[in-house]
Amino acid sequence: MIDDMIREKIVGASSIGITSHIRPDGDAIGASLGLGMALLNIGKKVQVVLKDGISSTFRHLPGADLVKRAFEPGIDLMIVDDCSDLIRTGGVLGDRIPDINIDHHITNELFAEVNLVEPDSVATSAILAKHMPFWGLSFTPEIAKTLLTGILSDSIGFRTSNTTSESLRLAAGLMDVGADISELYNKALLTHSYEATKFWGFALARMQRENGLVWTALTLDDRKASGYFGNDDADLTNLLSSIESYEVAVLFIEQSITRTRVSWRSAGEFDISNLAHEMGGGGHPNAAGAELEGTLAEVQEKVLRMTQDYLKQVKSYAINSDGDRK
Ligand code: 5GP
Ligand code: MN
Repeated sequence: MIDDMIREKIVGASSIGITSHIRPDGDAIGASLGLGMALLNIGKKVQVVLKDGISSTFRHLPGADLVKRAFEPGIDLMIVDDCSDLIRTGGVLGDRIPDINIDHHITNELFAEVNLVEPDSVATSAILAKHMPFWGLSFTPEIAKTLLTGILSDSIGFRTSNTTSESLRLAAGLMDVGADISELYNKALLTHSYEATKFWGFALARMQRENGLVWTALTLDDRKASGYFGNDDADLTNLLSSIESYEVAVLFIEQSITRTRVSWRSAGEFDISNLAHEMGGGGHPNAAGAELEGTLAEVQEKVLRMTQDYLKQVKSYAINSDGDRK
């Protein structure tokens, strides 16, 4: 069984490396820190590496000081979490193939020797909350805080459609160990800096919509003008996803003159994970992203066209299959 394989690998290792994806979100950070602290507690040497470090939103988490930007040599066991492909690690592994891959993305490429991938799980942190006891790892209040933060941030506070009664039971178990849900919820989801809020303002002012699609962009100039210097979207995508009666929301984030990130959010049955995967990215049915070569204008034109085509296709398929049934 997969839990036995993972336990044996952990028992047999003395020095363990953990990494996740670039521009790590709350789940990537929470899962890496929680697993890292649990392994330290059973006497392992642990290196937690996140290529982009930890954004200020999550720096309050226990274990945040463990995080480095690169691995030192001498690791026996390499674990990658919350990361659907190896490119997303940002190159910190060199050409090393990881031993264990723990993830909940449907687009995961199963790149490790042992792949614990549960796409129905609300967060990678929830997979850890469920499986860690089978690997001989236990929860402290500190570990519970990091894992509950991961669950809260990936489910946007239990609002995503993959939230199940099991997600709530796992979260309740972490609360029983000592994690304060209201404090963690506020820090992970409700608190935004003045600069981040100003950054949103620029993008919101130029938001557009057409045929069920809502979109806008964050430019490099907006970043400069607002003083927001994180390299992420300052959580604006989640705000776009709260707009009433949209089918797909798309946020374009200018990275440089030649690279643009795209974040999709969809409502209901519109599965945008394949569209993102086709463009070199990945994610979940209702939340996905990709980074594309091209100026903001070029990427915006191409992605909006492809997303509109996709929406038309899904809608006409729904009409046709309704017709068939009649
Ligand atoms: P976000 O839009 O918040 O950046 O990402 C939404 C979801 O898609 C997250 O689960 C994230 O891990 C995934 N995702 C975002 N960008 C990429 C990407 O470039 N490649 C892959 N494989 N997944 C991505
Ligand atoms: Mn993530």
